[in-house]
Amino acid sequence: MIDRAESRGPVLVTGASGFIASHIVAELLSAGYRVRGTVRDLTKTARHSHITTLPGADERLELVAADLRTAAAFDDAVAGCEFVLHTASPYQIDVDDPQRDLVEPAVNGTLSVLESCAGAGSVRRVVLTSSVAAITDRADGHVNTEADWNTRSSLTRNPYYFSKTLAEQAAWSYVGRSDTGFDLVAINPFYVIGPSLGGEVNTSHRSLTGFTNGKVPVILAIEWPFVDVRDVATAHVQAMERPDAGGRYIVAAGTRTMRQVVDLLRANGWGDRYRLPSIGLDGRIGVPISKLAARVQRSGTRDYLMSHLGGVMRFDNSKVRSELGLEFRDIDKTILETMDDLERWGHLGKKR
Ligand code: NDP
Repeated sequence: MIDRAESRGPVLVTGASGFIASHIVAELLSAGYRVRGTVRDLTKTARHSHITTLPGADERLELVAADLRTAAAFDDAVAGCEFVLHTASPYQIDVDDPQRDLVEPAVNGTLSVLESCAGAGSVRRVVLTSSVAAITDRADGHVNTEADWNTRSSLTRNPYYFSKTLAEQAAWSYVGRSDTGFDLVAINPFYVIGPSLGGEVNTSHRSLTGFTNGKVPVILAIEWPFVDVRDVATAHVQAMERPDAGGRYIVAAGTRTMRQVVDLLRANGWGDRYRLPSIGLDGRIGVPISKLAARVQRSGTRDYLMSHLGGVMRFDNSKVRSELGLEFRDIDKTILETMDDLERWGHLGKKR
């Protein structure tokens, strides 16, 4: 373990105001670290107020501007840092131009951050926020481990998954070939939910908001491997602090089908307040019907549905538990806390 009091320089968190990153910033500040965070636009102070008002932020958080699309944008941000947690990456399923909107910022941005780290001379470790997307893009019953790589995605099939796979591969190949002076650890979270510090609806929350705002009236044969955002943040901090951490870490707590989530919500009174999905399309006849209906969705959503409907998603999370000591929160509790939080921020639509 590194000695927190002895760590030199601030810890850099890229994309610091994002859903996952803001929890990482909160955990680092609460552990006593100095934190430097990058955001795209420093003048949009309202977008960052949830991190600049965190306990300890006044004294130990500084924000700097950096965009993944700008060459050498991270040089100043990285200067003097020993640890860099690179979370920034576009997280959108449906985009107009997958190469421009997803692949280029994800891959070039990651390489840009790594080049800045190599140039700084002070960096000892980079923790990269990768994804399940770099492990697999389909629910095929295979028990996924850190040895698995997503080989199926492309610009025309699950392009967000493609961008994350290429970005992680580019990072490993960068540290593999150059004498950078730092090592790399990748965190591969699955479906991240949990309370949002900033109150924005993250892409991964949209399935849950869809349950109450009428966008998803049906129960689909979908299974989600969930993980609480606070556990994802802890995994990043542990991956940074433990000298023996290495390689990739699957970070997922447990799977729930859409039906299990709806049942959980109903059992906890949500059905009395909101019109929850009730038409079951998760049976033998429902799956082909929902696959037909998926064809009219935008291409990213369609790809996702086609590769996940009717399938089961399995994973082995033993590495992160044994090597990083991660103890996962109860996923049903996280689902309910997420719903409470989404309601508090006004994202759940009209009540009955
Ligand atoms: P958010 O959308 O909340 O965060 C994404 C962050 O990336 C934001 O801070 C955003 O900045 C920043 N970003 C996007 N494009 C650029 C750019 N061109 N230049 C600089 N910064 C940029 O999503 P999450 O917190 O969920 O995602 C964080 C990371 O976790 C991503 O790498 C994502 O792929 C990964 N991930 C997320 C999962 C999930 O279920 N949420 C699952 C697995 C991995 P801005 O605020 O300015 O838009």
